[in-house]
Amino acid sequence: MQRYQLFIDGQWRDPQSNAWIDTVNPYSGETWAQIPRGNDADAQAAVAAAQRAFKAAEWRGLTATQRGALLRKLGDILAEHAEQLAEIEVRDNGKLYAEVLNQCRYMTQWFHYYGGLADKIEGSVPPIDKPNVLNLTRYEPLGVCACITPWNSPLLLLAWKAAPALAAGNTIVVKPSEFTSASTLEWARLAEQAGFPPGVINVVTGYGAEVGEALVRHKHVRKVAFTGGETGGQLVNASAAPDFKRVTLELGGKSANIVFDDANLDMAVNGAISGIFAASGQTCIAGSRLLLQESIYDAFLERLVELAGTAQIGDPMAAGTQVGPITTEPQYRKILDYIEIAKGEGARCVLGGGPAAAPDGNPGLFVQPTVFADVTNDMRIAQEEVFGPVLAVLRFQDEEQAIEIANDVNYGLAAGVWTESLRRAINMAERLEAGTIWVNTYRSTSYTTPFGGYKASGLGRENGLEAIKEYLQVKSVWFHTGGDVANPYTRR
Ligand code: NAD
Repeated sequence: MQRYQLFIDGQWRDPQSNAWIDTVNPYSGETWAQIPRGNDADAQAAVAAAQRAFKAAEWRGLTATQRGALLRKLGDILAEHAEQLAEIEVRDNGKLYAEVLNQCRYMTQWFHYYGGLADKIEGSVPPIDKPNVLNLTRYEPLGVCACITPWNSPLLLLAWKAAPALAAGNTIVVKPSEFTSASTLEWARLAEQAGFPPGVINVVTGYGAEVGEALVRHKHVRKVAFTGGETGGQLVNASAAPDFKRVTLELGGKSANIVFDDANLDMAVNGAISGIFAASGQTCIAGSRLLLQESIYDAFLERLVELAGTAQIGDPMAAGTQVGPITTEPQYRKILDYIEIAKGEGARCVLGGGPAAAPDGNPGLFVQPTVFADVTNDMRIAQEEVFGPVLAVLRFQDEEQAIEIANDVNYGLAAGVWTESLRRAINMAERLEAGTIWVNTYRSTSYTTPFGGYKASGLGRENGLEAIKEYLQVKSVWFHTGGDVANPYTRR
């Protein structure tokens, strides 16, 4: 069995606690590796290394072009190891290999895109309404950034943080989920090969309350980039507040997938399934509320149930599998609890509704693809994030009511709209309160386009040009170019 170490200051080290956490394959149930149980002392050491590296000439003295080249080199190395990384990640979180391999290949683009952007971060020369002045706006890195990631897509979500943070000239300490740290530690090995100076990239693993919290509270951490649940986001936001740290939070969702009666129904049924059953629903952008227009409600539901009922449950590494296991035991329990809550609330279960067994007898924790019909928006199953393959189906009469139902929720991460009407698509895209709107598609993201939440779905944006600003601070520099001596008691 593999026993991992922490990566601090360019060295692989045992944790100060001398304790490790078992990492379990959610499909086979086998403990296949151990990851270090980092603690406050490890967090201190990692931040100290990152702080030193931030100030050292080896990193600070690189030109932006050289920094970008390092990122692009890392992208190339990651591309060569995409299959290996994907296998490790599937062993850790049980997501389908086909999906994780795509993610691992696609992740390399973040390092190429932000590598290219590193030497295009340009300041400006604002025209000033005063004589004899040259005024410059400069963009500068923040310092040490803590990057905290969840278990559902560890490497992709790390790329969303690490690539812009490093391109902007910061140094990073990464804290992956205690359930799925192995792929991030393997990633650090590859970053080492790319030649980043010691301390620029550090990885400390362990529990949120023991090592995550210590990072967020550390006075030398200037920015926290967090992806996780609402509770974790609140704790991180509160812990970062006393030092006025910058924070980006990518949190949960309860996204509405809205189907109008003029939609291409084959595409829409497919979109509804991809919205909730892909990744076994363990995705922040899950289209977990399906809003169907009254006139197509029954017919659409019938087609959806028929198609979703054929989903192949099984080994995430097997090519034919469509629904894999639930990643963690607590998440499995939470999903089953929500199924009972929905039944208790009077929602009508028309598909699934309980645990499933793996066809080959493996002990993995599976939940049947589950559909609840006749859900009303006041039910908990319509308001709270389940993070599993459980769909709540609601009905609406017209655009106005669809907007009202879709927006009547604390979250605002994404929404889907299925219609052939351009006027309706534009109207809906403008009025839906969510950071991403998909029209006649679902679950697309890219390194070039901003991603983030409205309301309780988060703060700030990742990806695209927007994201680099989250890792920079702005400085105005004033040069007086005249020879006059001014009145010291009045403002110039
Ligand atoms: P989580 O909040 O339990 O944990 C996320 C990370 O934060 C882990 O590394 C954890 O150890 C750490 N953490 C927990 N408490 C902390 C604290 N007090 N201080 C510092 N770090 C702490 O989330 P999870 O269960 O791993 O992931 C599932 C959640 O993530 C879901 O709610 C999902 O919607 C969300 N998510 C959001 C996005 C997005 O981009 N918006 C993407 C994926 C997942």
